Amino acid sequence: MASIIGTWRMSYDSVLEAYNRLTAGASAMDAVEYAVAEVERNPQFVSVGYGGLPARDGEVYMDAGWMDGTTLRCGAVMSVRHVSSPVKAARMLCGREKNWLLCGTGAEAFAIRSGIPIRDMRTDRSQMKWRARIAEEAETAGAYDGHDTVCVIARDNQGHMIVGTSTSGLFMKEPGRVGDTPIVGSGYYCDGEAGAAAATGLGEDIMRGCLSYETVALMRTGMDAQTAVQSAMKAYMDRRSRLSETVDNISLIAMDNRGNIGAATSLESFPFSAGTDSGFSMYEAMYLDGSLTILPRRAEDIPLGD
Ligand code: ASP
Repeated sequence: MASIIGTWRMSYDSVLEAYNRLTAGASAMDAVEYAVAEVERNPQFVSVGYGGLPARDGEVYMDAGWMDGTTLRCGAVMSVRHVSSPVKAARMLCGREKNWLLCGTGAEAFAIRSGIPIRDMRTDRSQMKWRARIAEEAETAGAYDGHDTVCVIARDNQGHMIVGTSTSGLFMKEPGRVGDTPIVGSGYYCDGEAGAAAATGLGEDIMRGCLSYETVALMRTGMDAQTAVQSAMKAYMDRRSRLSETVDNISLIAMDNRGNIGAATSLESFPFSAGTDSGFSMYEAMYLDGSLTILPRRAEDIPLGD
């Protein structure tokens, strides 16, 4: 059974196209790369790839991760500029025994050597947004929300599972800051014998819980994707509340090795799209008063965000 799931409204169109390709026999690798790279390429989506959110110095630094559930191999890049598709670089690094997590200039040199086109990822729009923010807060400007990550998990007709992630991270982040997105176990994890999970939201919080790994570890005990992802999120929220801390900005997607999908969030609204053998739809996960509801939605009714 072919299945796919992707975060946020921004990936709806590319995840739908990837679902059609998967059901027609495409590999999970090609489906995930396509779905993530299309979001990276589109400057309308301001938290990923071209036109992504600038750091405090006005540059767009991007992170991406990739994991193959058949081989448990990973590839990832962090803090890269000018790489037109960070997820393609992550995919190309996957398979290496060593040197599969590259950062900064080394990762950029790898991308150039591998033939990934180089591009100035800043757009007029991203620069205007950055200048406006600098003018507002001058020296005190801190990272603010308005970040999101595209995460896509797919399982193809052969049962092969892949996860890919890509983000420009927090708007106005400190140059050099890296979140969960390229970090295996935090931003993504995929074991074809159990399932896969991926995260979006404040990376600093996600990393403290290794939430993608925790979700997959629960699926390994036989839990389905929805039960596992909800249990992992609840356990982490409970743990943080014992520290008198709240988790207010984390969302997770998951897929078990049978192709069932799941999602959990600490937000009032977390849109995602998914396709399984029962069809394709946009959904909204809503966390209100301590309980999670997930409902199908029409894509037209979910704002694209800016
Ligand atoms: N997880 C990303 C980061 O912390 C941002 C996001 O998904 O909202 O860089």
